[in-house]
Amino acid sequence: MIGFMTTATTGIMAADEVVGIARDLIRIDTSNYGPGGDGPGERVAAEYVAGLLDEVGIASTTVESESRRANVIAPWEPEGCDKSLPPLLIHGHLDVVPAQASDWSVDPFSGEIRDGAVWGRGAVDMKDFDAMLLAVVRQRVRENRPPRRPIRLVFTADEESGGRQGAVWLVRNHPDLVADCTEAVGEVGGFSLTVGDQRLYLIQTAEKGLAWLRLIADGMAGHGSMRNADNAVTELAEAVAMLGRYEWPYQIHEAQQGFLDAVGEMLGVKIGPGSVEETLARLGSISRMVGATMSHTVNPSMLEAGYKVNVIPGQATAGADGRFIPGRRDEFIAQVEEIVGPKVRVEITHEQTGVEAPFGTDLVEAMRRSLAAEDPGARIAPYLLSAGTDAKAWSELGMNCYGFVPLRLPADLDFVGMFHGVDERVPVDSLEFGCRVLDRFLDLA
Ligand SMILES: [Zn+2]
Repeated sequence: MIGFMTTATTGIMAADEVVGIARDLIRIDTSNYGPGGDGPGERVAAEYVAGLLDEVGIASTTVESESRRANVIAPWEPEGCDKSLPPLLIHGHLDVVPAQASDWSVDPFSGEIRDGAVWGRGAVDMKDFDAMLLAVVRQRVRENRPPRRPIRLVFTADEESGGRQGAVWLVRNHPDLVADCTEAVGEVGGFSLTVGDQRLYLIQTAEKGLAWLRLIADGMAGHGSMRNADNAVTELAEAVAMLGRYEWPYQIHEAQQGFLDAVGEMLGVKIGPGSVEETLARLGSISRMVGATMSHTVNPSMLEAGYKVNVIPGQATAGADGRFIPGRRDEFIAQVEEIVGPKVRVEITHEQTGVEAPFGTDLVEAMRRSLAAEDPGARIAPYLLSAGTDAKAWSELGMNCYGFVPLRLPADLDFVGMFHGVDERVPVDSLEFGCRVLDRFLDLA
């Protein structure tokens, strides 16, 4: 099979293929409705991806955590790459969050091209990168240009529901397929932010951790007509209010500091604790994402108690969504316990670790050089993501994880709003730019 692709097929560039692959992937509806939801089209997408790799002679393995929850793993380590170097994991997820078609200007699963952009669910999260990666790898194989080091290409299921059928499952059940990788590259980063008249490319080096909390108050059950000094509903309600209104102090993570320093330099201002919010406001919609990573956050989101109005229940419970700064998990939990007080117990019902990787590495320098070669004057900065990605799973195997999906974006595009948003779309120019940067990156990484 290898060697089958000959000069007959060279000449097709990644830029010629990337839009078509992105549209094909968008047309495969891989909506992820969460646990118990109907199995998505992940299997169809996985077969499509495996087919594109197979066409250029890259063998892949598809493994399913459950029927149709398919993950594709393909080692790409051709003759000419330096096999003394540890492999680099490059990953993209194949699932998407659902889309309500009636809210959209186009059919979210049509992959329509309009106003110079590819529209559809997954256009930026993250079938854009899946397509860029496939297009670039295919071009390089056709041109017999190996990557600098061995690569593991991984396309996962279930990222949008925590990866328990995808990356998390792979790490627990097939760690051998990826465990020799020392670094991982995937979402969410590499896109440009226009600051003044310069472009800053954000490299994701860290992710907040997640702790879903259950707050439990026990009290004395009894008749609603009598005095009750130990009412669980009252205790719980007070604790929930304290937690929801608590103003978490700023804790600037080093990734966040790097971001603020770069922005400050580009704007010619010194950003201190008192001017963070004001500076973020000048950056437009990115402030929604970056603003949430200045501190821990907790949002109460569920309440449950009682079954009849004249019966005081013996227990009341609440749910809250906690997100903590990486590396500060224990102090976060301790602070939550202090806020809710001794009468309310705190249980963690679901937890995902925070992730952090160093910024001053050769891999990040390879990102910077690849970007600067295609966008002279481009600067980079680290940043801390408020949400979670498959990086959390890979980091359990000790990998340093980075978000690097290179996209040069128009200054006026609300890119942050595209993630899980209505009318999600990616400019065709940005996809083509991303292919060129990714191609350079594979020579340097
Ligand atoms: Zn994503």
